Amino acid sequence: MRTPLVVGNWKMNARVGAAIELAAEVKTGVAEIDGVEVAVCPPFTALKPVGDLIRYGRLRLGAQNVHAEPDGAFTGEISVGMLSDLACAYVIVGHSERRTHFHEDDALVARKAAAVLAGGMRPIVCVGETLAEREAGRTEEVLRRQVAGSLGALGAQAGEVVLAYEPVWAIGTGRTATPEQAQAAHAFLRARLAELVGGEAAQGMRILYGGSVQPAKVGDLARQPDVDGGLVGGASLAAPTFVEIVRIVAGD
Ligand code: PEP
Repeated sequence: MRTPLVVGNWKMNARVGAAIELAAEVKTGVAEIDGVEVAVCPPFTALKPVGDLIRYGRLRLGAQNVHAEPDGAFTGEISVGMLSDLACAYVIVGHSERRTHFHEDDALVARKAAAVLAGGMRPIVCVGETLAEREAGRTEEVLRRQVAGSLGALGAQAGEVVLAYEPVWAIGTGRTATPEQAQAAHAFLRARLAELVGGEAAQGMRILYGGSVQPAKVGDLARQPDVDGGLVGGASLAAPTFVEIVRIVAGD
């Protein structure tokens, strides 16, 4: 039995004051919701104050990115050790916005995922096809390549990863995947994970859906057998909406 996970990705939004307010509201809102794990991923500048605020509660802290090297001359970058100092539990790696705008490829995503695991945190590894790839019937080919490229080198440790299926055409577009599309992709991904870590371990891994998750859509998505929660962007910036999503995923 997999405990669902709902993660709010705040992206480059919320300065420190706003981040503290948002985190406080989410913390209170999810405090009594059982049967689901919840994390928020503020921008780097708000990790420390948000982490201090939610420490000892059930809300977990995540980061949106990390550098693959442990330290060194990488101006402007943040290391795994720096994130673990702040008690981050999760680190998103390979988000499509980083793949697109910052040219991150599967090899780099794999190095980041390995670094996060070595640092004692869980990577949330994002994969997903573009609209052109879907329309060309290449969704499975793309997902297969991304899973192999991002997780293949991790060996059995890949079982510690949270995978996020985020079709690029659904991110920030208001065009949510249908439950059938999500289930098909998630089942395909779980079968690829089984090839890497074995069937039993793959059954224990969480695969989140991300892409324009909204309260009205999330119930049907979360009821799919291979959908284990959500990675929520825009809708995580309004605490009542995010808390409602958490409540629905928990079946509360
Ligand atoms: C995301 O940032 O991972 C995401 C899915 O964004 P949105 O929910 O806004 O589509």
